[in-house]
Amino acid sequence: MEPIAKVTLSCPHCKKESVFQLYRDYDSFELFFIPVAKFHKHYQALCCNCSSLFALDPAVGNAWRQGHFVAIEVRHLRSLTEPDKDFCPRCGHPLQNDFLYCPQCGCSVGAPPSPAKE
Ligand SMILES: [Zn+2]
Ligand SMILES: [Zn+2]
Repeated sequence: MEPIAKVTLSCPHCKKESVFQLYRDYDSFELFFIPVAKFHKHYQALCCNCSSLFALDPAVGNAWRQGHFVAIEVRHLRSLTEPDKDFCPRCGHPLQNDFLYCPQCGCSVGAPPSPAKE
């Protein structure tokens, strides 16, 4: 992928103001069938905070590539990252499903084990 630009956005995944790296896919990439899209994967945006990958609206991606720095909004992004990935509600750190505590800030994030009924 070819990096185009960096932009600060409010990430729909980790809910933080994050730096996004925008990429353009090389054309050869389109030879592969990638079953994610609906959305045409010419452009992608990577959240540098939580590493979530998004498809970027091609109209916006084209504008950026041509030097028109149009505002990028959440509606221009489509998540390509696994939907079951969780994020710490306090600091936005990505979490594995079975984490009970955030490795970054230590706050409790897991569902407490259901109390055994006796
Ligand atoms: Zn993020
Ligand atoms: Zn945390």
